[in-house]
Amino acid sequence: MSQQALRFAVGAFDCLAVTDGLSAFPAAAVFGNAPEEERDQVLSERGMPTDMVQSSLTSLVVTTGAHRVLIDTGIGPFAPTTGHLLENLRAAGIEPESIDVVILTHAHPDHIGTTIDAEGKPAFPNARIIMRQGEWDFWTDEANLAKAMAGKLHNLGELDQFMGNWAKTYLPPIRLQLDLIEGLDEEQIVPGIYVLPAPGHTTHHMGLTIASGSEQLLNLVDVAINPVHLAEPSWHPAFDFQPDIAVQTRRRIYDQAAADHARILVYHFPFPGIGYVERSGAGWHWEAEAPAGDD
Ligand SMILES: [Zn+2]
Repeated sequence: MSQQALRFAVGAFDCLAVTDGLSAFPAAAVFGNAPEEERDQVLSERGMPTDMVQSSLTSLVVTTGAHRVLIDTGIGPFAPTTGHLLENLRAAGIEPESIDVVILTHAHPDHIGTTIDAEGKPAFPNARIIMRQGEWDFWTDEANLAKAMAGKLHNLGELDQFMGNWAKTYLPPIRLQLDLIEGLDEEQIVPGIYVLPAPGHTTHHMGLTIASGSEQLLNLVDVAINPVHLAEPSWHPAFDFQPDIAVQTRRRIYDQAAADHARILVYHFPFPGIGYVERSGAGWHWEAEAPAGDD
């Protein structure tokens, strides 16, 4: 069985990378604008299947002392291999009731899928749920949802319908817990956790900076979805809402991460998705962090 959770520290913060499972999406969508032959060749060279791209779903729990924060909530009941976040949290000794802040980095299905549990009850009943105002507005807007249900939000048909369905299912039940923020640069959510605006993937997609003492972790969420997006920075997912802005954001944030030799966590990279990047060719090379000790 693959690993479900990994504990590590960022300064005085106790962190847990924890997965909802493993999803897969069509390569033609994950690398939407890549020429098919080139795409097949690059994926084959890396020993990856050329039809479907496997994708981890790595949430992060940060226990700061004052707060216990969960960042993103998996895709939920999408496939038999997904929807395991709550059981994996409990297995790691974290009761969902103990989480007092949930941050949703954006409202794509694979990040909002466990706002409610299998009975439709709030999965994190004692948490306030943080989202950027613009992200909430976009994904609860009738016209946008109608476009998604018609398969015309990104012209991706079923994939757009899936986005619309998940937004309609998993967002309305959190209204009472919702705490909307502007999400401007370096806005503090709780002491030690700051907004890192990263628009383009969605209009108000955000990463997060987690800082304690002299240590930092950048949670870069979906600025890149697969390590191939770092090697081929102009290839972007067909479900990036503003592809040109997404590519600019990727260039800015990953250049900075490389220059700073920043420790980063990427939601969809192979679990736990923690590592470093360095400049390489037109993009960056991903170096996964060696697993620490006996965990
Ligand atoms: Zn995602």
